[in-house]
Amino acid sequence: MLGLMQDWPLLQSKLIEHAARFHPRREIVTYSVEGPVHRTNYAELHGRSKQLAQALERLGVQKGDRVGTLAWNTWRHVELWFGVAGMGAVAHTVNPRLFAEQIVYIINHAADKVLCLDLTFVPLIEPLLEHLKSVEHFVILTDRAHMPKDTKIPNPLCYEDLLDVEDGVYEWPELDENTAAGLCYTSGTTGEPKGVLYSNRSNVLHTMAAAATDTLGVSARDAVLPVVPMFHANSWGVPYLATMTGAKLVLNGPHHDPQTMWRILDEEQVSVTAAVPTIWMALLKYLQETGKKLPYLKNVTIGGSAAPRSMVEAFERDYDVSVSHAWGMTEMSPLGTVGTHTADTASLDFDGRIDVQCKQGRAVFGAELRIVDAEGKILPHDGVAFGHLQARGPWTAKAYYNRPDDILDMDGFFDTGDVSVIDPDGFMQITDRSKDVIKSGGEWISSIDLENAAVGHPDVLEAAVIGIVHPKWDERPLLVIVPEPGKTVSRDDMLAFLTGKVAKWWLPDDVVCRDSIPHTATGKIHKAGLREQFKDYRFP
Ligand code: ADP
Repeated sequence: MLGLMQDWPLLQSKLIEHAARFHPRREIVTYSVEGPVHRTNYAELHGRSKQLAQALERLGVQKGDRVGTLAWNTWRHVELWFGVAGMGAVAHTVNPRLFAEQIVYIINHAADKVLCLDLTFVPLIEPLLEHLKSVEHFVILTDRAHMPKDTKIPNPLCYEDLLDVEDGVYEWPELDENTAAGLCYTSGTTGEPKGVLYSNRSNVLHTMAAAATDTLGVSARDAVLPVVPMFHANSWGVPYLATMTGAKLVLNGPHHDPQTMWRILDEEQVSVTAAVPTIWMALLKYLQETGKKLPYLKNVTIGGSAAPRSMVEAFERDYDVSVSHAWGMTEMSPLGTVGTHTADTASLDFDGRIDVQCKQGRAVFGAELRIVDAEGKILPHDGVAFGHLQARGPWTAKAYYNRPDDILDMDGFFDTGDVSVIDPDGFMQITDRSKDVIKSGGEWISSIDLENAAVGHPDVLEAAVIGIVHPKWDERPLLVIVPEPGKTVSRDDMLAFLTGKVAKWWLPDDVVCRDSIPHTATGKIHKAGLREQFKDYRFP
C-alpha cells in the first residue's frame, strides 16, 4: 500500500522561493570583483534569478542545456545557480584554476551553450576562444560601466543589461525532481576530468542533510561565509544551505588573502565558515602575526584535505572556534562525513577531543559508507582494520556525464579512491588516497599522517610525503618540506621532531627542502606532479 502524502518534487527553485517568502530581507553580501561591497537579499535574488531565466530563454537556452560559469563566489553566481537550475537547464561550474587544455576540454565535453564569466576570467578565456566548439553566447558578469572595452570575445553580452530588459514575471516550471541541475568536473589529476551531474533532488536532499546540527549546523541566526569556491564541489553546498535556512550569506568574491578574509569575517560578523586547510593555514599565521582575534566566529568546517592537528588545536584553544573536520568528494555532492562530537566524545578532555576531531568524522545520514579489503570483503568498524572506502546514497554519483565507465560495484557502492579506518563510535579516518599510500614491506604508511605531523614543526610551512622505490621494502617515504621564509630545517632536526609522533618504521628515509610544492586546481598537494619531480630520486 502506498502512503497518502503529497508528491512535492524536491526542486532547487523551491529553496529560493522559500527564502524569498520567509526570509525576504535576509542579506547576501559580496566583496565584489569590481571592488565595492554589494548587498542584496533573498527577495531580490529570487526576482533576479527569474529575470535571468527569462534572459536565458531569450538567448535560446532550453531545458537540459548547459550554461557554463567561470566565476567567483558572488551574488550573481548564486543567481545563476538558481535561475539556470530553476528553468530546467544545467549550471556547469568550470574551475578556472584548471590547466587551459582542461578548461577547453570540459567546456567542449559539457557542450556549454552559454558561458558566463567574471571580469577576472576574460583574459583567461580570450586565448582559448578558437578551441571552444559549443559556446553561442558569452555573458560577462558585470554592469555596463565595467564592460571590457576591447576584448577579443565575440559579441560579449553584459549580464546586468540582459536582466534589465526582463520583467521577472515568470513561474518556475514543475520539473521532475530528478532533472539535472548542476555539473562539476573532478580536477582530473589523473586522466581526463570527469563530469558529475547533480540533480535537483540530490542537491535538495544534500542541503537538508547539511543543515542538521551535527552536519554544518547552520541556522537563520548565522552569517555564513563559504570560502570554498562555488566551482569546487558546489562550495560544499553552503550557498544552498544558507538559502534554505535563511542565514545571512557572505561571499568573498575573488578575495582569498588572509587580511581581507579577516576583514570580511569581522565586518560581517561571520559565525560559520568553510574552506580547505591552506586558507586556514594562512589566516592563522596572519592572526598570530597581528594579534587579531575572531570574536564572532563559532564554527569552521575544514575539508578537501586532512586538517593538521596543529590547526585544529589553534582554532579551538587560541580562538575559541570549534572545528568540524569534514570529508567528501565532488562525486558525493560533496558531503560524506563530518567530525562533530557524540555524547561520549564530547566529555573527553581537551587532547582526547582533539584526537577525535582530527579524524574525518561520522557519516551523514544519506551517505552510506563501508570499508572493504582488496577482495571486496566488508571490514569491521574496529578502529584497526583499514580498507577501501566505498559510498552509496541519494547524492552520490552513479555514472559520469557522457562516459561509459561503470562506476558502481554489484551492491551499488562507489569506490571513493580513499583508504580509511572506521572506529566503533563511527568516526572515519582517512589513511590516504589509495594511490598515495606508501607500501613498505607489505605494510601501508599514511602519507597524510606524516605530513600532518611534519607541519606541526614551527619552521615548516608545508609538507608532502611520497613513496620512493626501495630495493628492499618496495617503497619508503620521502618527506618534502617548504620551510617558513628565512628558516631552514635539517633532516636530523625533522626526524627528531617526528620521533614519538609516528611509528618508528614510518620515519621518512630522507627529508628534502624545496621553495614550493605543486598544487592541484582545488588547492591540494599535487602528488602526481611531485612524484614526477622526484622520479629519478634515490635514497642516499
Ligand atoms: P579533487 O581531488 O578533484 O580536488 P575532490 O574535491 O572531489 O576533488 O576530492 C575528494 C578527495 O579529497 C577525497 O577523495 C579525499 O581523498 C580528499 N579529501 C577530502 N576531504 C578530506 C579530508 N578531510 N581529509 C583527507 N582527505 C580529504
